[in-house]
Amino acid sequence: MSAVSRRLLLSAGALFGLGLSPRSWAREAEGAKEAKSTTLDLSLESSPLTLPAGRSLLSASVPASSFVSLVVRGPREALLGARAFGNGPFARAIRRAAPMEEDGLLPCIYSGLTGDQAEELSLLVDVVDPVTLTLIATRADDNKAPSARGLKDGSERARSLVGLPAPRGRTAGYLVQGPARYTFARIDVAQSLMAAFEKTRKTFDSEPIWVSDISQWNGKRPKSDLGIVRHISHEGGADVDVGLPANDTLPSNVRDHCKRVFLDETHAGCSPGTAKGIDFERLAYFIGTIAEEEEGRLVKVFVDDAYRRELIRVAQELREKGFLKELGSAALSEEGVLVASPWHMDHVHLRFSGERARPLLE
Ligand SMILES: [Zn+2]
Repeated sequence: MSAVSRRLLLSAGALFGLGLSPRSWAREAEGAKEAKSTTLDLSLESSPLTLPAGRSLLSASVPASSFVSLVVRGPREALLGARAFGNGPFARAIRRAAPMEEDGLLPCIYSGLTGDQAEELSLLVDVVDPVTLTLIATRADDNKAPSARGLKDGSERARSLVGLPAPRGRTAGYLVQGPARYTFARIDVAQSLMAAFEKTRKTFDSEPIWVSDISQWNGKRPKSDLGIVRHISHEGGADVDVGLPANDTLPSNVRDHCKRVFLDETHAGCSPGTAKGIDFERLAYFIGTIAEEEEGRLVKVFVDDAYRRELIRVAQELREKGFLKELGSAALSEEGVLVASPWHMDHVHLRFSGERARPLLE
């Protein structure tokens, strides 16, 4: 099939998707279910499954209390649409998250955290070429740090790289900006982020903060699959880009909060005095909350120099008001983890301590 006809099919697919209400999708899923010969069962045991071109209906079983990712792989533009049906927390979260943040390219990945019971869901997948569907899962309590010695002598292994779960709702305190295939984190990093986002939202009764690039599904830098890497780090799931919490009525996503100036030929930063619309209290609280988990939890936090100075000031205020403790305010002090860095006018970059994560996918 030519690229042009693929594109036409893709846009036809998009229109098709828009024209159907969730209820008619559900009816369609029911109808397809009656044609039993087309239903495939996806589980950790049967994964990966190969799906033919066309429409496939699957019933999937996902394990309890786990970070789960459903991975559609194949030719980059093969996917027309995919949809999950079911009332469990995993199905609901991945249905809500897709497809606004995606670019439509494969691999397309749906990640979520399951509840304390195993979950059954149905999946409807439309493709123009054969694809494979892979299910991976890591138990949420399989998050203990290996010892340096164990890692070295091979008696222990690195923690898993997991897809940051699609948020379960408003109280999660975060949203994902960009394709889910670029938001894979070491399991404990994902858990720290989720806890800090939830706590920040609760404390400030605020809008969600957007998470952008972490690592690619295979532990490489985001966009390595497209050959347009723009990061010098972000390998192994311990580097995280987060949007700046905003107080200018716009979303707390990755966007410039100051006027860009070039510091030299290749580096840009904020023009002095132009920073605006950043909720520094919320940003300091979010970073400080993670730093308070344990000493050295955050190795470095990269921000623009203008934001760094404001964060240091606000963190001491939060400490005085009792919002931050010793570890949190120390991390955000002059001698702490904040590093003034060019190209950070639109986000903050958190670097966690610990080993590079072990990817479960090639
Ligand atoms: Zn970054």
